Amino acid sequence: MDDKIWRGLGVSAGRASGPTWYLKEFQADTRHETARNSSPEEELFRLQQAVTRTEQNLTALEEQVKAEQGEEVAQIFVAHKLLLSDPSFIGEAQERLQKGQLSAEQALQEVAGEAVKMLRSLEDPYFQERAVDVQDVLVHLLKNLQDVQEEGSDVFPKTGDYVVLADELTPAQTIALPKERVLGFIVRQGGKTSHTAILARTYGIPALVGVAKGWEDLTVQKWLELDGEEGWVRPTAVDHIAFADNGLREEEISSQNSALQGMILAANIGSPGDLPLVEKFKAQGIGLYRTEFLFMGGELPSEEEQVEAYRQVIAACAPQLTIIRTLDIGGDKKAPALQLPQEKNPFLGVRALRLTLRRPELFRQQLRAIWRAAASGPTAVMFPMIATLEELYQAKENLWVAREEVLQAGHSVGELQIGMMIEIPSAAWLADKFAANVDFFSIGTNDLTQYMLAVDRENTDLVELYQPYHPAVLGMIARVSQAALQRGIWTGVCGEAGGDALLAPFFKAVGIKELSMAPGSLAKVRTTLGKLALSPEESEALVDSVLSCASTAEVKEALELFHSEQIV
Ligand code: PEP
Ligand code: MG
Repeated sequence: MDDKIWRGLGVSAGRASGPTWYLKEFQADTRHETARNSSPEEELFRLQQAVTRTEQNLTALEEQVKAEQGEEVAQIFVAHKLLLSDPSFIGEAQERLQKGQLSAEQALQEVAGEAVKMLRSLEDPYFQERAVDVQDVLVHLLKNLQDVQEEGSDVFPKTGDYVVLADELTPAQTIALPKERVLGFIVRQGGKTSHTAILARTYGIPALVGVAKGWEDLTVQKWLELDGEEGWVRPTAVDHIAFADNGLREEEISSQNSALQGMILAANIGSPGDLPLVEKFKAQGIGLYRTEFLFMGGELPSEEEQVEAYRQVIAACAPQLTIIRTLDIGGDKKAPALQLPQEKNPFLGVRALRLTLRRPELFRQQLRAIWRAAASGPTAVMFPMIATLEELYQAKENLWVAREEVLQAGHSVGELQIGMMIEIPSAAWLADKFAANVDFFSIGTNDLTQYMLAVDRENTDLVELYQPYHPAVLGMIARVSQAALQRGIWTGVCGEAGGDALLAPFFKAVGIKELSMAPGSLAKVRTTLGKLALSPEESEALVDSVLSCASTAEVKEALELFHSEQIV
C-alpha cells in the first residue's frame, strides 16, 4: 500500500474510509457579468433582490439546523444574516454600484474579496474563520443573482457513500449534503472553530481540516482513509466502505445499547428527511418529532400530506416508539401561511399549544392525521408549552374529538400514548398533578432553562447565563422525574441537554428513562452510558453531589469529577 500520508487538524473524531468526491469551489459566471450592460439602478435592484432571497435561504437553513441540531449550531446562520445588514458589506457594494460601471456580481466580489483579505491577514484564528463566513454569504448572493440552485444534494452522486474533499466547505454546503452518505470530510481550509467543524461534530462525521500541504495530490486520490481524531489521511487500497461512528462498529453499538439497562436513546427530528441519520446512528425511536417544520413554508400542509409524513416516520421506526409533538409555532418559529400578528414578546406569547387551542380547526386536523398515521406503528402524541392543567384538559378533549372525526370519516385509528412537554416552570412544579393525566413527560430543557433563568435562549450576549447546568434547573428536573416515578409514568429529556454526555449519568441517576437528541450526539452519549453501572447508592451520591451545588460552575465541577472517576 501507498505510504503517503497527509496531516491536518482532526476536528471531529472517528475513522472512515471510502471513495472520494471532490466538491469544487463555486465560480460565478463571469461571462454573464461582462455581457451585462445595465444601469446602476438596475444593478442596485438586482442586488436588493438577491439580498432578500439570500435572507430567506439563510432563515430556512437556520430553521432546519435548529430543528436537527439545536440553537447553538443554528447561530451560524444568524451570524450570516447579520452580514447582510452590515454597512461595510452590502452597503459598500451599493455605494460602488451607484458610481456606475460595475455589475452587482463585480461589486460584491470586490467588497467581499477585500474583507476576506483583511480577515485572513489577522493572526487570530477566529477572524480567519470569519473570512469563510463572508465567502459563504458571497456565494449565496452570487447564486441568487444568477439563479443557480444550491449545491450539495444536487451535485452529490445519486448513489453511494463518499469521503468529501473540499477546498472550503461552507455551512450551507454542509447542510445541503446528504449527511447519511458522507463518510468523512477533508477540507483544505479551516480550523477547529470553523462552522464546518462544528457541524461535522454534531452530525458525528469524522473530519479533518487545514490539509493545505500536498492538497493537489490529495484531490486526485480515488480512495482515502481518514482519522478525525489523530488528524491524518492516507490512500487506501482496501475496497471497503466504513462508517466510523465515532470509532464504533455496528456490533459495538448493539452491545452498548443492551448495556444501557433499559434507558432509551432516541433521536430528535424535524422531517422524514432525517430518517437516514436516525438509521445511521441507530437511534432507538424518535423522542421528538418537531412537526412545525411542515407548516413553515408558504402553504399549510393538507391532512393527507400530514398523514403521509407522520406515517413515513412511524413505519420506519416501528417497532420502536415515535413521539410526535403537536405544532410549536410562535416564539422564534414563524409560519407565514398562518398570518399571525406580531407580538412584543413572542416567546411569552401565543406560542405552541396556546396557538393551537385558539385555532381548533388547525389543531384537530393535525390530531386527526396523527391518529390515522398511528395505525402504522407505535406512536405517541405530545403537547408543547403547557403551563396549566386546564390547557392539558382542553388539548386532550380536542384529541378525543379528532379521534371521533377520523372514525366518522371511515378511516382506522391507531393506539396513542399521550404525553406532554415539561418546559414551563409552572408545569414542572405541578408535575405530580400533571402526571395523573398523561402517560409520560418529556422535559424540554431548552425552554425550561430559558423560562427558569429568564434568559432568552436566542440572545448571544447571554450565553454565559443560559445554563442547563444551573442547579435550579437540574433540581427541577430531578423533582419532575421523582413525581413521575411516584405516579408510575416515565420521563424523557428531549432538549439539547438530552444529548450532553456530561449530564447523561445525572439523568440516569434521577430516573429518566429516555434521552432524545440530535442523531449526531447519540454515539457519545451511548458510549458514556454503556460504561456506566450505577448502584442505587452511587446514584444517590451523584444526585446529592449535583443538587447540593450552589452554582453552575460547581455543578460542572461535580459532573466532571464523576466522569473522571467513573467513566473510564
Ligand atoms: C425544548 O424546549 O427543550 C424543546 C425540545 O423544544 P424546542 O427546542 O423545539 O422549543
Ligand atoms: Mg421547547
